[in-house]
Amino acid sequence: MNSQSISSENKRSARIALISVHGDPAVEIGAEEAGGQNVYVRQVGEALSRLGWQVDMFTRKSDAQKPERVKHRPGCQTIRLPAGPPKFVSRDEIFDCLPQFLEQLLTFQTQEGIHYSLVHTNYWLSGWVGMKLKQHQPMTQVHTYHSLGAVKYANVPHIPDIAATRLAVEKKCLESADCIVSTSPQEKVHMRSHLSTSGNIQVIPCGTDIERYGAISQAEARQHLGIPLEAKVVFYIGRFDPRKGIETLIRAIAQSQFREGDDLRLIIGGGSRPGEKDGQERDRIAGIVQTLGLNDQTSFPGRISSEALPFYYAAADVSVVPSHYEPFGLVAIESMASRTPVVVSDVGGLQFTVLPNETGLLVPPKDVTGFAQAIDRILADPHLSQQWGRAGRQRVEMIFSWQGVAQQLSQLYQQLMP
Ligand code: UDP
Repeated sequence: MNSQSISSENKRSARIALISVHGDPAVEIGAEEAGGQNVYVRQVGEALSRLGWQVDMFTRKSDAQKPERVKHRPGCQTIRLPAGPPKFVSRDEIFDCLPQFLEQLLTFQTQEGIHYSLVHTNYWLSGWVGMKLKQHQPMTQVHTYHSLGAVKYANVPHIPDIAATRLAVEKKCLESADCIVSTSPQEKVHMRSHLSTSGNIQVIPCGTDIERYGAISQAEARQHLGIPLEAKVVFYIGRFDPRKGIETLIRAIAQSQFREGDDLRLIIGGGSRPGEKDGQERDRIAGIVQTLGLNDQTSFPGRISSEALPFYYAAADVSVVPSHYEPFGLVAIESMASRTPVVVSDVGGLQFTVLPNETGLLVPPKDVTGFAQAIDRILADPHLSQQWGRAGRQRVEMIFSWQGVAQQLSQLYQQLMP
């Protein structure tokens, strides 16, 4: 072994921190703003620890009942730091908790007798923490945005009070972090056009679990879920958030040529428990379903656990991601990994993950008729659907496995660490 490889080995056994202030990597996914970021941090953390890194994942304690530490596997744990009230706080209201979060992180390092020489921050809130931490200690900051304020605000009706602060932090982070991990080439273009022309950006995508998804046949999955083989099944999974465009999907189903006479089923998975914030959007969506007379065709199974999710993807004929804005969109690659073709909005990371007419179809966001036609095209042609399903699986195996993603991140960290 030469000295170069010895030093790489040493770096890879280093203790590093992933920070995800609002997206707790140890929580159940699907409700109360928990989604792609939580999955990303958890999966990246676990996969990095398999490569030898010691990974501490920091998040804000948002539930007094939850333990302060959760060990996921050897070398990978979640640490919940008290910062602000120990209850759910919307991401638009967390900024004031950040100084306390930073203080707690510094105290943790002192108590443990370490300081992290590499910190990977997630979302602008954690990016702020990373930039401040860097003023206290020599360290490398890697940052993933998960969502860009400038693009998001162009796509939502309500701009929160925190918007100006967020935009300023996002710009500064690009210019000062050692490297930004952009999860798609499209996101990189957005960073350059909306944030800054300076700063170091590397594209490393999000990934998915290629063993968990794709192991079940459609027949098996339908038997398990009690769905008849001849039914036509359209599947949505994700948070109830207006930017997810669920309304477009429902209106498209109302226009489907399979609406009458066929056993057309729309499954809208994900979302809330009573009293949670996303319940408002859920109620609005349920109201539209009722108004359009789609109650019989539509089911809302609620949050779907990661164990149950592979059955839903496998049972579906098509998964739909009708977002107005989607920085990456894990759901599309999960469905492709399950050999189920997708119909997605022609936006953001979905333009990177989905190959039109090969693994699915891209439709302009909010284009109800376009979505209806694309969904119908797949439902009408099982042969095409199988072909696209196979191609989707191949694409995910090639570029979107967590293992491959973690290897790229690991290499990046080693290059950046002194
Ligand atoms: N998810 C889940 N159960 C649910 C709802 C969502 O496991 O009930 C997962 C979904 O499988 C995906 C993530 O939450 O891994 C959503 O990520 P995506 O990037 O599609 O959307 P985001 O939440 O980041 O906007």
